[in-house]
Amino acid sequence: MTSDPLARITTALLDGERFVLASHVRPDGDSIGSQLALAHALRALGKTARIVNHDAPPAYLRTLPGADGIEVAAAVDGRFDAAVVLECGTLERTEVAGLDRQPVVNIDHHAGNAMYGALNWFDPTAAACAEMVHDLIAALDVALTPAIGAALYAGILTDTGSFRHANITARTFETCRDVAACGVDVAALAAAIYQNSSLGKLRLTGRLLNEMRLEADGRVAVLRIDEALLRETGCPPDDMEGVINLPLAARDVEAVIMLRTLDGATRVSLRSKGLVDVRAVAAAFGGGGHRNAAGCTLDVPGPDVEARLLARTVAAVTESGTHVAAAPGF
Ligand code: AMP
Ligand code: MN
Repeated sequence: MTSDPLARITTALLDGERFVLASHVRPDGDSIGSQLALAHALRALGKTARIVNHDAPPAYLRTLPGADGIEVAAAVDGRFDAAVVLECGTLERTEVAGLDRQPVVNIDHHAGNAMYGALNWFDPTAAACAEMVHDLIAALDVALTPAIGAALYAGILTDTGSFRHANITARTFETCRDVAACGVDVAALAAAIYQNSSLGKLRLTGRLLNEMRLEADGRVAVLRIDEALLRETGCPPDDMEGVINLPLAARDVEAVIMLRTLDGATRVSLRSKGLVDVRAVAAAFGGGGHRNAAGCTLDVPGPDVEARLLARTVAAVTESGTHVAAAPGF
């Protein structure tokens, strides 16, 4: 790989005609936003761009222009000039077969990316993969449209935890500046993402916060979701975006563990403040993510593995040294 992966990827995309764009299982705002933005840009250049993911976009992203054209499949057939895999640390995590038969272009910002592509552009300093796609679209010399801008903004808004995570840099706002300048109604988009939930989600939120467990002198909060709770509250399984962030509103809470037991496996989401590194915790259980937002799946769940997960998280909080709210100069 040369020192300028962006230039090589730009050339590859300009030279090709047919592309498939994939991302990780259970795609989130940055997955869908990055894919839609790049697909719109490639189509503006007269190219064919299909978006294929293992799972459908969550409901709160389905109003994004082009989201209704996203294909849900466990495999792709045929040949493409490239499979562009966005926002995904390993090729396996797409859970889409057949991508490995294409020349793979890997564009990602997750620490620990496996560099699985024929071309790899990995930038862990990007707050969202959408920031990288913004730069790629500029390199392709495609002007931002409201559809592209909305997709980029959805990626940034969700991957920064609504502009709260420690991953934000000047570049984040430079991307957002271009988004606002191209005519995106950013308030309407934020409302579509954050003020559009079911009443079941509100009821679930109430129960979760009431039943929240606190550990390590209140520095770690544990939320637990199972099928009975979803049934009793009427919350749809894909309508939980942002719930995990709520305990971080408390001054003393520095990390949140959310356990979702569905279909025999336990999916774990982790969030933290400041220097508390939950990516390292997730990585110890076969997952990944970012310092302040990470996840993993416990295939053989049980009290032992949950106790180890909690102990690791408590250690991450104590090792970080600083209590965020009390840090000098904060
Ligand atoms: P989530 O809690 O599902 O919103 O995920 C938070 C972050 O962790 C996202 O950047 C995900 O891509 C990442 N992540 C979640 N689960 C895994 C996993 N099993 N392996 C690698 N990364 C993950
Ligand atoms: Mn993600």
